[in-house]
Amino acid sequence: MTNIVKSALGKRFVALLLLLSMITGTVVVSRNLANAAEPVPLPTFNIPPVSAEFEASEKPNVLVVATGGTIAGAARDGDKTNFQNYAAGTYTMADMVAQLPLHKTADVSTFQFGNKGSGSYSIKDLYDLSLAVDTALATYDSVVVTTGTDTMEEIAYFLDLTVRSEKPVVVTGAMRPWDVIGTDAPANLYQAIKVASSNKTKWFGTVLMLNDVIYAAREVTKTNAHRLDTFDAPMFGALGYVDDPAVRIYRAPARAIKAGTEAWATPFDLKTIAKDSLPIVEIAYSYQEAGGGAIRGFVEDGAKGIITAGTGAGGISSKMSQARSAAIQQGVVFVTTTRTGSGTMYDSGTSSTIGGDNLNAAHARMLLLLSLAFTSDLPTIHSWFQSFGTGDVEISVDENTVLTTSIEEESVVEEPVVEVEVPTPSVEPTVEPSAEPTPEPESSAPVETTPVEEPVGVK
Ligand code: ASP
Repeated sequence: MTNIVKSALGKRFVALLLLLSMITGTVVVSRNLANAAEPVPLPTFNIPPVSAEFEASEKPNVLVVATGGTIAGAARDGDKTNFQNYAAGTYTMADMVAQLPLHKTADVSTFQFGNKGSGSYSIKDLYDLSLAVDTALATYDSVVVTTGTDTMEEIAYFLDLTVRSEKPVVVTGAMRPWDVIGTDAPANLYQAIKVASSNKTKWFGTVLMLNDVIYAAREVTKTNAHRLDTFDAPMFGALGYVDDPAVRIYRAPARAIKAGTEAWATPFDLKTIAKDSLPIVEIAYSYQEAGGGAIRGFVEDGAKGIITAGTGAGGISSKMSQARSAAIQQGVVFVTTTRTGSGTMYDSGTSSTIGGDNLNAAHARMLLLLSLAFTSDLPTIHSWFQSFGTGDVEISVDENTVLTTSIEEESVVEEPVVEVEVPTPSVEPTVEPSAEPTPEPESSAPVETTPVEEPVGVK
C-alpha cells in the first residue's frame, strides 16, 4: 500500500478509492433520505384553523385527530348491552365532542383523519397520521389521537418515534362502543383532552391514556381482550393519573430528561423520506420446535427486517435459528425480543442480531422499521436501539451545566423549652402475685367494655 501511495498514479488511485468510499458511505447511511434537489412530496391535511372564538379564550386549544375504533363504535341492531358486537368507527369525532359536556379545561376542535378499526391502517397511513399530528401542533397547543385499542400501542409508539413537536400528544380509545350501557368512550375522550390541555406531558413524547391512567407509549401494552383496564406497562407502571381535580404525573419517561436539547428528537423525521421507503418488517414467534418457514416466507415476501419474539431471554428454536442465519446472509436485519412480556435483551452492539432491550415485539418492529427507512448501516441501527430504543435514564452534570439550585443554610428555629414536672413514683409494698384468680368484687360498678366490631361482610 505504501508503495502504491508513493507513486503519482497510486496517489490518484487512492484518492479515487477514498472518494468512492465516501460516496457509497453516504449512500448507505442516507439510502432513503430525500435528495435535497428533489423534495419529498408531502401529504397535506385539512386541519381546521383555530376559530376566532377559541383564539380569544383563555383555555388551551386541543385538536382531536380521530381515526375510528371502538370509541367511535355504534351498537349493532340497537342492542346497547352487547359490548362485543358493534360497528367500530361509526360516529364522527365532531358528533362525539358535541355530545360531551362542555370541556372545563380545553377548547376542543376536531379533525377526522379516518374512521375505521386500528388494524385496518397501513404503515403508510401512520406516516400520514404522524405528519398530520405535527401539522396540527404548529397551531394547536396539544393533540389527542383516538384509535382502536387493538394496535394502539404500535400506533402510539410510531407517533412517539416520529412526531417532531415537543407539545403533548395523547392517544386514547375505548373498550366499549360509544352508545352502549356503561361505555368508557365519552369518559376516556374527556379525560384524554384534559391530560392534553394540562400540558403536563410536554417533552414526554406520545403518551396513552385510558381508564384515567397515563402510560408512556414505549412501555404500554394491551393485556386483556375485553376489560376496561386492559392497558398496562409491565415492570414500569403508570406515569400518572387523571381525576376530576387534577392531572397528576408521578414519573417521566427517559426522553423527557433531554427536553430542550437536540438529543430529544429522534432521527426519524418523516418529512425527509418518501413513504414508499418504509420497509417490510415482520415478527416471528418462537415456541417448542418452531419451524423456520415463517422467517423464510417473510424474506421471500421482501422483509428487510424481522423481530423474533423468543422464549425466555429471547431464545429461538434451532430451525428458526438456521433460517435466521440464512436470512442474515441475505442482508435481513434481526432484533431479538422476548415473548414473556418483559425483561431486557442486551445488545452487544456488534452482532448481526440486535438486542431489543425490553421493547415488546410490536414496539421493536416499529423502531426497526423506521431505522431501516433511514439507514442500512448496522452499527447505526445498533446505536439507535441502544439510545432511543433503550430509554436508559442517565443524569449527568458537566462544566456546561448551569446549576440554579443550591442548598440554603437553614436558620435554626429555637424551640421553646417546656419544663415538665416528672411525678416521683410512690413506693408501694410489692405484692407477690397469687396463683389464685382474684375473685370479682361483690358489688362493683358496671365495667365499660369496648364492643368488638363484627368484620363487615363476614357471616
Ligand atoms: N377492533 C377495535 C380496533 O382496534 C378495537 C378497539 O377499538 O378497541 O379498532
